Amino acid sequence: MLKENLQDVLERIDRASARSISGEKVQLIAVTKTHGLDLINEAISYGVTDIGENKVQELERKKDGLISKVNLHMIGNLQSNKVKYIYKDICLIHSLDRKSLAKEIQKRASQDNIKVHCLVQVNIGREETKGGLAYEKVLPFIESMMDYDHIKIDGLMAMAPHIDDEKALRAYFRKMFDLKELVAKEKFDGVDMTYLSMGMSNDYELAIEEGSNMVRIGSDIFGKRDYSK
Ligand SMILES: *Cc1c(COP(=O)(O)O)cnc(C)c1O
Repeated sequence: MLKENLQDVLERIDRASARSISGEKVQLIAVTKTHGLDLINEAISYGVTDIGENKVQELERKKDGLISKVNLHMIGNLQSNKVKYIYKDICLIHSLDRKSLAKEIQKRASQDNIKVHCLVQVNIGREETKGGLAYEKVLPFIESMMDYDHIKIDGLMAMAPHIDDEKALRAYFRKMFDLKELVAKEKFDGVDMTYLSMGMSNDYELAIEEGSNMVRIGSDIFGKRDYSK
């Protein structure tokens, strides 16, 4: 099952990227939250190079059991007091959305003299249940990040609202793509708008068509999640 699912997802990504407004290559992040090491390692054996988790403890618990070195992504809300557990292991934090978190990352990273790579999360649907900065706060926030020399901003992340309206979804994704271009034009020091992380199982093809180059896919690869385990 897993092998076929992964194959199918990769083919869909390929086809969607041929229709993308950016024409860029798309990076798949396999979202492994709630799934066990057996399944995750099986996916890695089929060529998955990037995995995403949304909880610090879960990531910490799993990382030493992986069969080979893969890129680890923190995709969920991150509490400042948990930064210390993961800042050295993670290749990209997708959920930078406030100064207090940036301060903590800066503090830890400067002690080790490393740069921590982050995406700025945007709350594109203005949903109270989701993290992320309001659209209009993104540019000033990124400008202020130039004072944080141990944080490297690599792009933007967003989750579209859970709706079926294709036109509305496209509009959200397009707005994110335009925002990425807008920030890129500013040419802020230490800021590269390399990645636009958007698109999940239910909407990744649309997201890619509208310019996403990093998709975070869980259920379409691993099946339904069981949160009771
Ligand atoms: C769980 C999760 C995903 C993957 O969701 P699916 O619908 O299973 O593809 C993507 N992004 C974030 C931030 C998540 O928490």
